[in-house]
Amino acid sequence: MTESNSQSRVRFQPLRRLAPFAWKYKGLVLAALASLVVASLATLSLPILVRGFVDRGISENNIADVNHYTALLVLAVVVLALMSASRYYFVIILGERVVNDLRTAVFAKLTLLSPAFYDRVRSGEIVSRLTADATQIRSAVGASASMALRNFLLFAGAAVMMVVTSPRMSLLVLGAIPFIVIPLVLLGRWVRRRQRFAQDRLADSSAFATEAIGSMRILQSFTQEERAKSVFSSNIEAAFGAARASVRARAVLTAFAFFVIFTSIVAVLWYAAHDVTAGRLSAGALSQFVIYSTMAAAGLGGMSEVWGEISQASGSAERLFELLDEPVLVKNAQVVSPLVTASNLSVAFEGVDFHYPSSEERTVLSALSFAIAGGETVAIVGPSGAGKTTVFQLLMRFYDPERGRILLGGQPIGGLDLNALRSAIALVPQEPVIFAMSIADNIAMGREGAEREAIIEAARAAHAHDFIAQLPEGYDTMVGERGVTLSGGQRQRLAIARAILKDAPILLLDEATSALDAESERYVQLALADLMKGRTTIVIAHRLATVKKADRILVLEGGALVEQGTHDSLVTAGGLYARLAQLQFGMDDLGHDLD
Ligand code: ADP
Ligand code: MG
Repeated sequence: MTESNSQSRVRFQPLRRLAPFAWKYKGLVLAALASLVVASLATLSLPILVRGFVDRGISENNIADVNHYTALLVLAVVVLALMSASRYYFVIILGERVVNDLRTAVFAKLTLLSPAFYDRVRSGEIVSRLTADATQIRSAVGASASMALRNFLLFAGAAVMMVVTSPRMSLLVLGAIPFIVIPLVLLGRWVRRRQRFAQDRLADSSAFATEAIGSMRILQSFTQEERAKSVFSSNIEAAFGAARASVRARAVLTAFAFFVIFTSIVAVLWYAAHDVTAGRLSAGALSQFVIYSTMAAAGLGGMSEVWGEISQASGSAERLFELLDEPVLVKNAQVVSPLVTASNLSVAFEGVDFHYPSSEERTVLSALSFAIAGGETVAIVGPSGAGKTTVFQLLMRFYDPERGRILLGGQPIGGLDLNALRSAIALVPQEPVIFAMSIADNIAMGREGAEREAIIEAARAAHAHDFIAQLPEGYDTMVGERGVTLSGGQRQRLAIARAILKDAPILLLDEATSALDAESERYVQLALADLMKGRTTIVIAHRLATVKKADRILVLEGGALVEQGTHDSLVTAGGLYARLAQLQFGMDDLGHDLD
């Protein structure tokens, strides 16, 4: 991001798209506008009252008029104060409303986006849009927009009143404006360059800190603490240096602005004094003129100040609307056919070609076809990267295939209601995700609103009840961030309990071996054996025991089906499976079995 780019190319298109969000709160918008207009009128009335005070009251020694105008001035100030307060209130509430609605809309959109989107956009980036960018918009919609409008009204009103008060002196001020504005603009650019440079240095140090915090364990294991500290502190020092330079620039700008503005006012006063002594201008008119010129200058300055904020908000709005505009890749067909639910649903892949949207050139599945009968247990075996997990992803419709069909109970899944499809499948992933909520709630994800007895029953079936009962608060124990940490085997048993509670006709198991110790593994095995009974089960198998229990084994390699059959027939065939069995399941096991 270079200075000239972001300066010259402020695009208001994204800001315009905020209008419908704001207009949803017509009442607030209108109340804010009304307060703003009344407050500006009250401000603009002040110089007229001052003029009356001076010309009618002081100059003519008329105490009655002095009192009269004093009362009017106080009244104007009271109106100004009240209206400023109500403007502030309405505008801030409006900003909060709009940004909450935007956040809600974006989050709702995020829940619709398929994994293809999350493969491409980092979650940190999304969170920063949802927080930092939304906050930027909040202040723009609220404070900045109303400040801009207020300053514009003040500037325009005061400029008109200057001309009304004294056209001759207005011309004079007009002539002086370039001498004031041009150096201020140039100086302002210099200051902004400094500020951006300082922000970038700060961002550098945050980026380094984020990385270091995320990998503190690695840093410590390589005893890199000292080096990290010195890199971070030199980053911080650089950020400080840049901040100091930026503050200095800002100080120079402030001093210069004060100097030129007040010198100009003094110059106008000096010049006008001649008109006053010559009787061409009243003292009150002079006061009126000077106050209006100050207001016009303040209005102009104020507008340039909020300009930066508004252009930043425009960028933020663009980033948020980008999320809202993100196409939904996987969605329901126009007409969805109801899923004919049977306890035993068949599954079939017919000539499926697939590559991940994030890596176009790499084919992951090619012409993959297989059929699994209802109630059958099938194991998928193959080297790492063969496309085993991808089969599950497609069956759950996280992605749609490029070519070919996937059938569930004989129906193409593209024509099924997405929720009905996913409700029919229970997936136990390789690395189960446990959320930062209670154990009971974690299990209840399998079935919304499940009763406590059902949850406990599922946990018992998953051989998880005993360890849960030993936790400090049993099923109400919080897990994750601020709760207990669970072992790999415990997490997996919770995931199985979820699947048991879901009681879906199709079961997909991405079998994990690495996370489990021998005892956990035994429990997990027991739990799975119960779960698989009477369901169509596809298991990505890494264990010989599982493979041997399967009715049939599909062997995948490079995204294609290379062999299928039972353990014994495949071992006899002596192909890829026989080799894999030796490598993956261990010589001893296999040797023993072959005899
Ligand atoms: P397996 O489960 O058999 O080990 P996967 O189905 O996970 O293999 O992956 C098959 C291939 O697809 C691999 O080459 C992998 O790198 C690639 N792949 C997996 N997930 C993604 C993804 N989200 N985006 C892009 N490529 C992926
Ligand atoms: Mg896998």
